[in-house]
Amino acid sequence: MPELPEVETIARILNTFLPGKTIQAVRIIRAKNIENDPAFFTHTLKGKTFLHVSRRGKYLLFHLTDGWVVLSHLRMEGKYFEGKAGQAPNPYDIVFYDFTDGSSLRYEDVRKFGRLRLNREDEVENIPPLSELGPEPWEAKPDVFLMDLHRHASLPIKSALMDQHIIAGIGNIYADETLFAAKISPKEAAKDVDEKQAITLLQSANAVLKEAVLEGGSTIRSYHPKQGMSGQMQNHLEVYGKGNTPCPRCGAPLRSIRIGQRSSVYCPVCQHEEGKPFIVGISGPIASGKSTVSAYLAKKGYRILDADELSHEAYTVPSIRKKIARSFGEDVLTPTGIDRAKMLNIVSEDSKKRKRLERIIHPYVYQKTQEVIDAGKDLIIAIDMPLLLTSPFLNQCDLVIGIAAPEEIRYQRLIARGVDPKRALELNRSFPMAKCKKAAGILLDGSGSLSDLEQQLDAYPFL
Ligand SMILES: [Zn+2]
Repeated sequence: MPELPEVETIARILNTFLPGKTIQAVRIIRAKNIENDPAFFTHTLKGKTFLHVSRRGKYLLFHLTDGWVVLSHLRMEGKYFEGKAGQAPNPYDIVFYDFTDGSSLRYEDVRKFGRLRLNREDEVENIPPLSELGPEPWEAKPDVFLMDLHRHASLPIKSALMDQHIIAGIGNIYADETLFAAKISPKEAAKDVDEKQAITLLQSANAVLKEAVLEGGSTIRSYHPKQGMSGQMQNHLEVYGKGNTPCPRCGAPLRSIRIGQRSSVYCPVCQHEEGKPFIVGISGPIASGKSTVSAYLAKKGYRILDADELSHEAYTVPSIRKKIARSFGEDVLTPTGIDRAKMLNIVSEDSKKRKRLERIIHPYVYQKTQEVIDAGKDLIIAIDMPLLLTSPFLNQCDLVIGIAAPEEIRYQRLIARGVDPKRALELNRSFPMAKCKKAAGILLDGSGSLSDLEQQLDAYPFL
């Protein structure tokens, strides 16, 4: 979606050819995108002349003679093109303004989310949506900005920056870039932002957006009204779209998580929120070396949350034991836990029973893990969880360490552990290795010795 710099660039390009053009006819191809009565829209605009195009937030304002203005929001993929009067429409065209000089302005919208509305110039700023917009980033006052952030207490700062009522013009790209420049975590609650951070955020937003305007915006998709013109800001982005690549400041792998349904990329080291835990997730198939990585991190002072250990703990909880006895029979229980071999026999052959066991155990493991994270006592935490990638913790991790190891090697390790390798590997068959590689900021080769793994980890001094 075009943000402030892209919309500003479009306004500037439109101003190179649009002013002075007089509308001979308006052709509405798709009336749904026009908020006025179509007849009113076409009738009023006929004979009017474009004066200039301005921008407010992510809106374009087309100023015309006789005090009219067309407000235009491009939403996902709206685009303006210069063309010829009378030109035949394509399936994505919304409206044509045919001019008396034989040229035209065409609005095309592949996604069809864009909106147009004709308003009186003297009231457009005072009615929604413009009246509801926050200030332009360079006009924002830190004290008002801070108050607005604190009013949106429940939002993460990333979402607050994108809230057009708080500040206008910032979307996903420039929110990520602003937070990186300001060294503030996108996860930080808006209510926790202090005065100094609010000032830094506004300064960073201004610097990032001004650079982007100078560069003509980002051409992630082309928004530009003249073929062959493209912005260069995509070459200057520091973090947006760069998950798992090294941080340009410190070299730590940038992390991509979801915040408010949007992907958010940040540096877990430079943008770490003071007083909040740094959470490392360890992911890999059975016998790939997860416990070696856990032990390595434990030596460095990490609090290890081991899902296997928590599962064992779960087997001692009376209410859970009752459920297990009901589902699998009394004889899988031992006085202090369960008979693991018996349980493995049951669940390795029956996926429905395995799911049932998971439904009994996982809520306990998840709850205990979340409790430690929320308690905030441990500032470095490592989560060793076989199902990390489908757990709610994946999105909370600041770093995922993935481990890959060939099956033959894992087979040998399982034998050495006294585990039935065929059964264990079969149970682990559905481990999503592709997802693990995609999530991993650090991908380790677990095919060698323990010290081999440790040596690979030594290359990451921030751990
Ligand atoms: Zn960094």
